[in-house]
Amino acid sequence: MVRAERVHKSFGLVPVLKGVDLTVRTGEVFCIVGPSGSGKSTFLRCINHLEKINAGRLWVDGRLVGYRQKGAKLYEMKEREVAAQRRDIGMVFQRFNLFPHMTAAENVMEAPVQVKGVRRAEARERAQALLARVGLGDRAEAYPSQLSGGQQQRVAIARALAMEPKLMLFDEPTSALDPELVGDVLDVMRRLAEDGMTMIVVTHEMGFAREAGDSLVFMDGGVVVESGNPREVLGNPRHERTRAFLSKVL
Ligand code: ATP
Ligand code: MG
Repeated sequence: MVRAERVHKSFGLVPVLKGVDLTVRTGEVFCIVGPSGSGKSTFLRCINHLEKINAGRLWVDGRLVGYRQKGAKLYEMKEREVAAQRRDIGMVFQRFNLFPHMTAAENVMEAPVQVKGVRRAEARERAQALLARVGLGDRAEAYPSQLSGGQQQRVAIARALAMEPKLMLFDEPTSALDPELVGDVLDVMRRLAEDGMTMIVVTHEMGFAREAGDSLVFMDGGVVVESGNPREVLGNPRHERTRAFLSKVL
């Protein structure tokens, strides 16, 4: 579903991704862990072309991200093509970014109505079903300010799912939450994984990575230092840098 080959990204003269290689298979939960500043968020943003890579190749669902290939040459996609490509990728951030003046249901309906032209009645019905799926069937008419952080984050997940993505990206979805609210969000993510969604999850929740993850990479300094089965990497890290990191977070 996602393939990165020697992906490089710099901000000005500062290299942040220095040759990321990884492969995410369809239907798997792929966890990314690593210290602050290692380039995890930057890499996620490259996947939906919020950041342009400087070198290397990046594919989603067999297609280059942001570029078309003709013969040996690459051409940048037009804005419309980029938007179409992005539509298949759901993203959930650390902060929930809900529209504050819209109810939970309206937040979930917004993109299908505005972007896909779905009729409001139909979009509302689907929003209601999605909210039920994240355990918020009875809060459809609540505004974000009336919901806890964990509830808001579950609305954000429902909102991303409303576009029927092929791939979901999660960037530390629980790290801004009070500890007692983390579990409900992780449960929703686990169920999504069981339903077969392909998910890339940047997280410090090692318990989630161990139980729900199919693959895990440890990133440091803009490269993948170590990768494998989450239980193996977390239980028996081969690299000193991985060990040092895990000893701090576990
Ligand atoms: P954290 O765990 O703290 O979220 P991270 O692994 O997600 O860290 P990134 O946010 O990808 O790390 O940042 C990697 C590096 O790139 C950092 O040094 C950061 O300052 C830098 N960086 C990120 N975005 C930009 C930007 N838009 N302009 C300049 N530098 C940036
Ligand atoms: Mg980050």
